[in-house]
Amino acid sequence: MRSTRYLRFWNGLMRSNEFSMRIEKMNEGEPNRSVNSEDCQNMRQYSGAEELASNLPYIAMTVLGSIVLIVGLSGSVWRWAAGIVYFLYGVLGAFWIMFFVCSYCRYWGTRSCPCGYGRVAAKIRARKPGDRFAEKFRKHIPVIVPLWFVPVLVGAAVLLRSFSWAFLILSITFAVDAFLILPLFSKGHACKDCPQKDTCPWMRRTPAAV
Ligand code: SF4
Repeated sequence: MRSTRYLRFWNGLMRSNEFSMRIEKMNEGEPNRSVNSEDCQNMRQYSGAEELASNLPYIAMTVLGSIVLIVGLSGSVWRWAAGIVYFLYGVLGAFWIMFFVCSYCRYWGTRSCPCGYGRVAAKIRARKPGDRFAEKFRKHIPVIVPLWFVPVLVGAAVLLRSFSWAFLILSITFAVDAFLILPLFSKGHACKDCPQKDTCPWMRRTPAAV
């Protein structure tokens, strides 16, 4: 039920003319390299359900990380603020990547991006030169790296101070999703079919996944 709602929201975002018009206004003056579809005519096209599936491990990490902070900081007046800020950081981090990285990707504005970021990127920014993709990837990926480590560090500190099996299981669940499922899922599913992988630093560092 929730995933259906999310899918509707996602497709609504893709179709939103008003949103696109607002962003086009923001992009006034930018070079228009809007036609990218010819480059990807022979590439695999992903459905909305496949795009949603690609996003599930990241969504799970964002939700689990928020829960780790809210539960771990119980007793602190900052617990809800920490959980909400972490969640918003996860959401804004995804848009940051779409804006600053995906606009340089060959899959900008096409259905050949496995996770749908390329289509959202086309709504928020004009296409940028693809030969700068690796440079932009290296520069902007560190912005979201704390999402992986903040819940682990907070979880470890809480466990050292007052151990509980329930919180340990919650922390391990977060770590398994963030450090195991998410990278394995990305490299084995979404990134595996990505023709950009030869210039992507994430994939080049993991030859086994190519
Ligand atoms: S393939 Fe990767 S870099 Fe390219 S648009 Fe999709 S998420 Fe962004």
